[in-house]
Amino acid sequence: MTALSVEKEIVATAQSFLKSNLTVGTWGNISCRVGDTLAITPSGKSYENLKAKDIVIIGKKHALAPSSELFLHQAIYKSRKDIQAIIHTHSTYATALACQHTDLPILTEDIAQLANGKVIKCAKYALAGTEQLAKNAVQALGSGWAILLANHGAVVCGTTLNQALLFAQLLEKAAQTYYICQAAGGKVHPLTSANIEKLKKFYFQCYAKRQEGESK
Ligand code: 13P
Ligand code: ZN
Repeated sequence: MTALSVEKEIVATAQSFLKSNLTVGTWGNISCRVGDTLAITPSGKSYENLKAKDIVIIGKKHALAPSSELFLHQAIYKSRKDIQAIIHTHSTYATALACQHTDLPILTEDIAQLANGKVIKCAKYALAGTEQLAKNAVQALGSGWAILLANHGAVVCGTTLNQALLFAQLLEKAAQTYYICQAAGGKVHPLTSANIEKLKKFYFQCYAKRQEGESK
């Protein structure tokens, strides 16, 4: 984490999250790994009025209840040590695909780094806030960085909060692109598994570092 406290970074991310139309109202949630625990947005609290003091650090006493998707965030951090930040979105096009229980094929190079194999998987349906939802999510995520949640929304992970936000925006763009392709006749040409793997490797070994300000 940078000079800003984790709590302040989550609040800044939440404001961009709302502005990017990745949710409406108070739905969705944002967390960040902090040592062996995590910091997470409170449940049902408006993003517009969110303050650093409202962010809940799990294990520390807090007046506000943590996000009702705490199981989901905890299960992902437990299963993937490389993930440092998680955003759960209710964005429109990703949710539309999730309502069809459709995996998102990897059609463009920018989205390839989020892939688990050849697609971004749609996790099996489970009720919001349940341990079953968390289990289904971890299973669908595999080694990828994003999933759809059936009849619900999406989950996007990152090595930083900024990256998770960027990935959430990319996922929504990819879902919209796929929707337009389907509306225009349906034929698409997904990238091959071999190229997806190469793009993913290039992103995490090189391009992501440039995005974080490294010059080489
Ligand atoms: P919280 O407001 O409890 O984080 O939950 C919103 C949500 O998206 C549940 O799936
Ligand atoms: Zn939700």
